[in-house]
Amino acid sequence: MKKTVLFTIFGGTGDLARRKLYPSLFRLYQKGNLGEDFAVIGTARRPWSDETYHEVIKSSIASFQPSNKEAEDFASHFYYQSHNVKDTQHYDALKKLSDELDEKYSIQGNRIFYLAMSPNFFGTIVSHLKSQGLLNTNGYHRVIIEKPFGNDYQSAADLNDEINQVFTEEEIYRIDHYLGKEMIQNISAIRFANLIFESIWNNRYIDNIQISLAEDVGVEERGGYYDKSGALKDMVQNHILQMLSLLAMKPPVAFSEKEIRTEKIKALESIRMFSEEEVRKNFVRGQYVAGEIGDDQFRGYREEENVDENSLTETFVAGKFLIDNFRWSGVPFYVRTGKRLTEKGTRINVVFKQVPVNVFKDSVTGPCDQKSLAPNILTIYIQPTEGFSLTLNGKEIGQGFQTDPIKLEHRNSSDIIENTPEAYEKLLLDALNGDGTNFTHWDEVAQSWKIVDRIRETWDKDQQTPPGYRAGTMGPDEAYQLLEKEGRHWVWEPDEWYRQRGLLK
Ligand code: NAD
Repeated sequence: MKKTVLFTIFGGTGDLARRKLYPSLFRLYQKGNLGEDFAVIGTARRPWSDETYHEVIKSSIASFQPSNKEAEDFASHFYYQSHNVKDTQHYDALKKLSDELDEKYSIQGNRIFYLAMSPNFFGTIVSHLKSQGLLNTNGYHRVIIEKPFGNDYQSAADLNDEINQVFTEEEIYRIDHYLGKEMIQNISAIRFANLIFESIWNNRYIDNIQISLAEDVGVEERGGYYDKSGALKDMVQNHILQMLSLLAMKPPVAFSEKEIRTEKIKALESIRMFSEEEVRKNFVRGQYVAGEIGDDQFRGYREEENVDENSLTETFVAGKFLIDNFRWSGVPFYVRTGKRLTEKGTRINVVFKQVPVNVFKDSVTGPCDQKSLAPNILTIYIQPTEGFSLTLNGKEIGQGFQTDPIKLEHRNSSDIIENTPEAYEKLLLDALNGDGTNFTHWDEVAQSWKIVDRIRETWDKDQQTPPGYRAGTMGPDEAYQLLEKEGRHWVWEPDEWYRQRGLLK
């Protein structure tokens, strides 16, 4: 169904708006999800004209190669309003323009406000929206908020209180763009549409679950922000704990926003809160030092722009979460994420337990014991490749009875990947439809911060320099020891990791 809506994008000249929001809105327009009865107001400090703004919109959708007419038609829905978010009068001008556009496009008072700006401004913006009458319309009012939502539990709670003065929880759409990714949404399909998995999705059959979110980039131009944040807050608090909750939650009664949220929150609340000693034992950090990826040389983190030369900020974290409920008791959830790692990739590995007895151990020539049977592993490839694989043991061809792991593999083709909607496109459509399933509820955010704060507080207390790891590796030795001391290892290493060790040509 075509939508009638007025989007107001705060931060309309920014990187996020140009790289993600405008292209996503264009795709929705092209596919007919946005009809002709919509308008977008872009606001930011720069004194742009509508004409300049239209040029920016057209250049941000150029990669889709629209016809001139299509690009012009789309851009004609965009209006620019120079605006300092701290200036009350500017909201009056915004209201005037909003009312005019409402009438022009028969928008019926439907409003979506997208806060593509620093979170420091969120409170000011929403309180002005209310005080200056921008919410005095008959349609729906929704606000989309970018990460980071706070920088610890207390600041997130304060921010939430401020926003709740104006918007109800149902009207707040907190973005975690991972939840818009095709394969993240596929976690639920794999689990709940396949009896072979859901029936064994517990501590009787699963040995451990691993989530790896590797980036090959460094901090780029975000050094100032990143140095105050670090990998734990930047990645674990949101994306990793969201993935973990989708993997660990019980099957919802129905695939609805309410039921899924209820189960995700229960899963997050079952994660064990570690003592300081347990944090030291179960979590390790790292900071990249100079190194190379392929033929490219990279400087170390402390040499990056806007980074303190004595910085203690982690650019890598690996750790073990434990979930104290009947389903997961005793199953470690290992997670790791970092910058300047060997290659970019996000993967989930579900490692199943070994069969109780290896009946083949006497039927083979050569050494064979319990360990020679490889575990079954379900791998979910989130990005950049998308798909899943299942490793099973089969018999090697020939007379003996040596078992060999065989991989059943499905990868989405690059054509499919290219044509699947971008995460932001899906999330914008969800927000238009009033569907909050793939956004994070306050209770999830709150619990994730409480978990992460506990780890952070211990590290802040210790004031230690994180162990270094060379750019282009998969993190410090400590990350390997974390699993080795429990008789396990990381299942996934990128191809390049094997190449560096001469194990792959
Ligand atoms: P940016 O610095 O490129 O853009 C910030 C925008 O805010 C600009 O349009 C700027 O003009 C505007 N602005 C700043 N101060 C203002 C003021 N006082 N009044 C009016 N406008 C003002 O930032 P960005 O990369 O677009 O990120 C925006 C938000 O989205 C941040 O919270 C960021 O953490 C988050 N985010 C960005 C990305 C991304 O890919 N860029 C990804 C995830 C989250």
